[in-house]
Amino acid sequence: MIRENVQRVREQMAEAARAAGRDPAEIRLCAATKMNDAEAVRQAVEAGVDCCGENRVQELVQKLPQGAYDGVPLHFIGHLQTNKVRQVVGVVDVIESVDRLELLDCIQKEAAKKGLVQDIFLEVNIGGEASKSGFTVEEAREVAAKMGRYPALRLRGLMAIPPISEKPGDNRRYFAEMRNLFVDISGKTYDNVSMDCLSMGMSDDFPDAIAEGSTMVRVGTAIFGPRNYAK
Ligand SMILES: *Cc1c(COP(=O)(O)O)cnc(C)c1O
Repeated sequence: MIRENVQRVREQMAEAARAAGRDPAEIRLCAATKMNDAEAVRQAVEAGVDCCGENRVQELVQKLPQGAYDGVPLHFIGHLQTNKVRQVVGVVDVIESVDRLELLDCIQKEAAKKGLVQDIFLEVNIGGEASKSGFTVEEAREVAAKMGRYPALRLRGLMAIPPISEKPGDNRRYFAEMRNLFVDISGKTYDNVSMDCLSMGMSDDFPDAIAEGSTMVRVGTAIFGPRNYAK
């Protein structure tokens, strides 16, 4: 089932890319693995996803030693508490969900202590929702310009979760705004910034995200089926 699902998502991604005049090869598929066990995650990896995205530190430290993510890069995509930063820095390839200055400082400190450079994305609250964390577009620009202050970090991309859409296509304008921000920052030369990833689009809206320039979609439900929150 997971294998077929990955294939179907790939086909839909390629279709969306071609419709937008883009090369399907420039868009990566990240499996959003929250609430799925190591065996399911392994199946997704074997089916050819490009990376895994985990939401909770507790799940990450459980599945990692079980070899769940073996063979592909691992991204952290969930809300990260500062007291858990130690368990993530140097363990994951990218922390996508850097959503506040306090977290930037904390990751910088931990990466410096471990003597490594941690790749990060900035999470942008593109819908300006009170319920979501993340930088505003303006804040993200300012942070990018000041990345020189964080020698143990490298800004590699942007991530966004737009509002839940009421009708199909609702989120295209948010995706387009993200694309503009991504192009703007990528065009500047800032210290510790080398952006090559725009992470946006989930099960419900990844074709729209691809139409607007996404280079990585994070897909959970369409690969693993509905999550069982009662478990
Ligand atoms: C759960 C999650 C996804 C995937 O959501 P689906 O709708 O199941 O595809 C993507 N990104 C983040 C940050 C998530 O938490």
